[in-house]
Amino acid sequence: MKVYTETITFSTSKRFELVDITYRVEEIVEKSGVRNGIALVFAPHATAAIIANEHESGLIEDILTKIKELTEPGSSKWKHNMIDDNAHAHIGSALIGADRAFPVINGHLVRGTWQNIFLVEMDGPRSRRRVVVVVLGE
Ligand code: ZN
Repeated sequence: MKVYTETITFSTSKRFELVDITYRVEEIVEKSGVRNGIALVFAPHATAAIIANEHESGLIEDILTKIKELTEPGSSKWKHNMIDDNAHAHIGSALIGADRAFPVINGHLVRGTWQNIFLVEMDGPRSRRRVVVVVLGE
């Protein structure tokens, strides 16, 4: 079995933002030499998440609106806000998840037409966000 790992590094510019990393992940999968297997896309962060969905500007806003509704940024009910003003981002990361896995078939990452891969920034701007991509297979 082959295991290929690469880390994508970038900065974010807003408090809430979706960063499309689809093409960088696909490039890593193609470079890995793995023909059939699985690609794990993992954000080693407690205040960000990974999703796969449509890259449409209205929907991007809708997703961020819903995340804010669910996680209530700035709420005084969050105890973590007494030591750090980002409880909402931790909760968002816990609810959505910091990773997604994709099939790799015939050397390509498999995703739906309307499934781009995004890092969900919930506590930006950050000068350095990382996404680790592990491609496993043969
Ligand atoms: Zn915190």
